[in-house]
Amino acid sequence: MSSSAASDSRALLSVRELRTHFNVGDHAVKAVDGVSFDVQEGKTLGIVGESGCGKTVLSRSIMGITTASNASTSGSVTYCGTELAGKSKRELRKFWGEEMAMVFQDPMTSLNPVVRIGRQLTEHLRAHKDLSKSEANDLAVQLLTWVRIPEPKERLSNFPHQMSGGMRQRVCIAIALACSPNLLFADEPTTALDVTVQHQILNLLAQQQQERQMGMVLVTHDLGVVATRTDDIAVMYAGKFVEKASTSALFSGMRHPYTQSLFWSIPKTSEPKHTRLSAIVGRPPNLAALPPGCSFADRCPYVQPICREVEPELQTIDSHSFACHLPVGSSDAEAALSANISAGLPQSKGAAARREAHQGTLT
Ligand code: SF4
Repeated sequence: MSSSAASDSRALLSVRELRTHFNVGDHAVKAVDGVSFDVQEGKTLGIVGESGCGKTVLSRSIMGITTASNASTSGSVTYCGTELAGKSKRELRKFWGEEMAMVFQDPMTSLNPVVRIGRQLTEHLRAHKDLSKSEANDLAVQLLTWVRIPEPKERLSNFPHQMSGGMRQRVCIAIALACSPNLLFADEPTTALDVTVQHQILNLLAQQQQERQMGMVLVTHDLGVVATRTDDIAVMYAGKFVEKASTSALFSGMRHPYTQSLFWSIPKTSEPKHTRLSAIVGRPPNLAALPPGCSFADRCPYVQPICREVEPELQTIDSHSFACHLPVGSSDAEAALSANISAGLPQSKGAAARREAHQGTLT
């Protein structure tokens, strides 16, 4: 992942200064606000953040499937050197399926509940490939086998409600992979699945990605999910990237307090039973009325007056980018945290306790 201002010509996907705002009355809801990144062939970028931070709108904006009539999008999205921004839905259709595909969050809403699985797969295949009905049928069985659905031939006659949540998500992955895309967006592909199925689905995606050398964007609220499955991570908050780095660099020295708070929120198996989970204090800001300065200020344990006055810019040091006046690990941040704890700031007291609980897990 590059943070260069110019598009990387070798990148599969280059996104520059992408903005998607929704006009609501006199306000603009800044769901995506100036996001830039690259995805290389065969690599996975994880985009992490809480619900409502703009991750899904970002994926949909790149794919060109933002349907709201009050949405306005600007910026550049280049796929293999071709500019996609400004193309009509008809022109973009050539890229969907064969070049870029998406696995949506909820298989129950992305699959048609009254159409059998087999027809949903074969219709998709025949819309993109010159196949006879029986060839499409054979390929559909092969796809269900790839995604490890038992008795794939028999399953073609099932309706979505006759399958488990995990099976439905596998069908969605099969549909997304049907035309061998070069780039896959997986938007919270394991939400609402139990931990074992979650693990299986993520392994399946990783295996298919490696076999096909696809680029992948894995969107999730769970920093733990991307820890071992991505090459790079971008952390999103209030419509912006607040930190981005290679996965190893991020986990060996996260610099943004929000990333640190997400990390502290991951339940640890080493903790005793019934240990209280660490939540981030407060709620994400209203995207239609963002406060001046840093949008994480009301929840940040390190907050100082400058944070509420001046919005921090994304700065890059050794390919590690972060937007913070008092980056984690700096002496200024340590002093600010101590001062806030002494002043009784609730989020700082919580952070001190979490830091103690996680001592040794963050270097
Ligand atoms: Fe916290 Fe200030 Fe950094 Fe924002 S700029 S994350 S409020 S320390």
